Amino acid sequence: MTDRDDDKPDTKAVSAGRMSKAHFGMVNTPVYRASTVLFPDLHTMESHTQEYHYGRRGTPSSRSLEEALCALEGGARTVLVPSGLNACATAILAVMGAGDHLLMVDSVYEPTRIFCDRELSRFGVETTYYPPTADIGPYLKSNTKAVFCESPGSLTFEVQDIPALAQKAHAAGASVLMDNTWATPLLFAAIAHGVDLSIQAVTKYIGGHADLMMGAITANESHAKRLEQFHGTSGLFSSGDDMFLALRGLRTLPVRLRRHAETAMRLSLWLKERPEVTRVLNPALPDDPGHALWKRDFKGANGLLSFELKPVSKTALAAFMDGFSHFGLGWSWGGFESLIVPSHIKRTVTPFRAEGQVLRIQAGLEDAGDLIADLEIAFERLEQKK
Ligand SMILES: *Cc1c(COP(=O)(O)O)cnc(C)c1O
Repeated sequence: MTDRDDDKPDTKAVSAGRMSKAHFGMVNTPVYRASTVLFPDLHTMESHTQEYHYGRRGTPSSRSLEEALCALEGGARTVLVPSGLNACATAILAVMGAGDHLLMVDSVYEPTRIFCDRELSRFGVETTYYPPTADIGPYLKSNTKAVFCESPGSLTFEVQDIPALAQKAHAAGASVLMDNTWATPLLFAAIAHGVDLSIQAVTKYIGGHADLMMGAITANESHAKRLEQFHGTSGLFSSGDDMFLALRGLRTLPVRLRRHAETAMRLSLWLKERPEVTRVLNPALPDDPGHALWKRDFKGANGLLSFELKPVSKTALAAFMDGFSHFGLGWSWGGFESLIVPSHIKRTVTPFRAEGQVLRIQAGLEDAGDLIADLEIAFERLEQKK
């Protein structure tokens, strides 16, 4: 197995990070559970020449996954952390200091917003918000150290013009941080589009099976040293078992994503025709406000979509939500199974107007016809309670 820089993403997903020669020919890097690593003699211990020297500072399990993610992201260095939210916090903390200003997108994942407003503020870092589709020029300050983006935005999927944003941010001396969880490294090449630190909630599509929590941050050349240093000094790592599972998920990510996207499109088109639905939010739909930008910069879509119901009573909404055969009611997304959740959309500079309840669907790998039938029965339940 030799991976090459010019391999296509589907090939990289299969071959990057493999270490078969170091593991008796085994295809997969085994799970390494390690704290202590032994040295053969004092000289080796003190000369820092041994490849692995302490559990927290890297094992073959972490290196395999980091190398695979880094190859797909087209970055210089990837680090692993215990959750996606921690990846957002770590990327921010790696570049910000007291007296700095963070410019944050208004459509950010809400826990990231809470981290900034509640915790970052205690360390003398000011956060202000910008509309996801605005020119950031007027929002930059003389002390803006970083601009954080997330595209498409959480719950509402606004698509941002990342190259334009990165150009303005860099001209002002600010770093560009992006939560790239929606696209995974396969659908949006964050670093090639000007992002300095690309963040993944590995928990979602990379893990892909609803059974692990992990985050990853990939830096470009200019930010690699800073990221590696902050990650190391703050003692971040992840479990070997979870690294194994994440890498196993990554190997099938391209085929899973294509199927998730195909089903999400079928559900979107079907929902658009329903009389109970006001609108469907999915940038892959040709009439979505973000479609042109999405088409320009992204290589595909995932299994997410949101839709707004026409206003109904709480009882009718509960009748719709309770009783699905295939859609689970639960947080997160990116697993093989379909989910539906009510969305409570929090914005501070771009009020999101909706008359009825907004619901978010993660289209899983079930048969699309079965999922549509499940929704059809749910609309019948809703109708009976109206
Ligand atoms: C879920 C999610 C996160 C957080 O990931 P966890 O692993 O649950 O902490 C961060 N960003 C986005 C966009 C997410 O959807």
